[in-house]
Amino acid sequence: MASNDYYRTLGVARNAGPDEIKSAYRKLAMKHHPDRNQGNSESESVFKEINEAYEVLSTPEKRQVYDQYGAEGLKAGAGGRGGFGGFQGGADMGDMFGDLFENLFSQGQGGGRGRPRSRRGADLKYEASITLEEAFTGVKVPVNFERTELCGECDGTGARGKTGIKKCPSCRGTGRVQYSQGFFAFSQACPDCGGQGEVITAPCKACNGAGRQKKSASMNIKIPAGVEEGAVLRVSGGGDAGLKGGDSGDLYIQVSLKHHSHFERHGADLVYECPVAVWQAALGGEAEVPVIEGGRMKIKIPQGTQHGKVFRVHGRGMPSPAGRDRGDLLVKVRVDVPHELTPRQRELFVELAALAGHGAPAEEKDKGFFKKILGT
Ligand SMILES: [Zn+2]
Ligand SMILES: [Zn+2]
Repeated sequence: MASNDYYRTLGVARNAGPDEIKSAYRKLAMKHHPDRNQGNSESESVFKEINEAYEVLSTPEKRQVYDQYGAEGLKAGAGGRGGFGGFQGGADMGDMFGDLFENLFSQGQGGGRGRPRSRRGADLKYEASITLEEAFTGVKVPVNFERTELCGECDGTGARGKTGIKKCPSCRGTGRVQYSQGFFAFSQACPDCGGQGEVITAPCKACNGAGRQKKSASMNIKIPAGVEEGAVLRVSGGGDAGLKGGDSGDLYIQVSLKHHSHFERHGADLVYECPVAVWQAALGGEAEVPVIEGGRMKIKIPQGTQHGKVFRVHGRGMPSPAGRDRGDLLVKVRVDVPHELTPRQRELFVELAALAGHGAPAEEKDKGFFKKILGT
């Protein structure tokens, strides 16, 4: 029954102008208004639908989101897909529709009930920065943050004792008041009590009537071995306390890895750049490389190893978060040419160069050349 095609619900074309939408809405709203259709539940749901459609199509920003993403886009809080930006957007959209539906429902039920408006607490985000070694083993990190918690003094009522709260005189405890606009009579949340149906006459001293207080909280969060950069862990109910019995929000821990002096991480593999002296690369030998679990291991450098060559050490990388497997350690050879030579080293290099047919190095040749032209 519920149609997500708002244009069809109002019977207008997709390019209809604001006036056309408004007049189509008025016609339909009059026809299906619950006051004229007492006890007709189908009319009530049609009325709800046309109001929903009008709410969206009469608000340029919402209409634009709807045209682009459809009704789902509005529910999700368009643009908030992924990342933390989405939470708040989604909640706001939800509230908007929540209020709208609440108005309509209480209307249909003939006058409102003043049920307390509970609200879910906000989600909180915390960033935890850990070392690569901690990501390797898994770690418990202490997380200290501020959140809104229920006031322990008044249990969240905001009132001082049981006598500190009484029925709201403006709405006689229903939480709703009637008003009329044009053709229609609407009910809305009572402005004096915020729809609660109760007013606080003596506010709780501890929270000044808010029912909630900012408190510092601390918990130990277990970060699993193999955690990836940017991973987000959720602590259900770890966020702000809800209002009027609403659920607590969640706490999201976003993990970032500190820069490591030896290793670069590529998924489950670790890359280590291993300096090898030029003669060692030529002759072959052993190199010591660090390993993530601590300490060092020896690897074989075969003779004639080229600069940039990568040796793969199986199973010495990071654990995968899913299972027991480990990635590999990739040892990338960096052939180091000495910046300075001792006289003896220089002699040997000159000899090498001569053997390879390069003759004397540039400097020597230059000297000879100048000697010649100066005739000395
Ligand atoms: Zn309190
Ligand atoms: Zn009231």
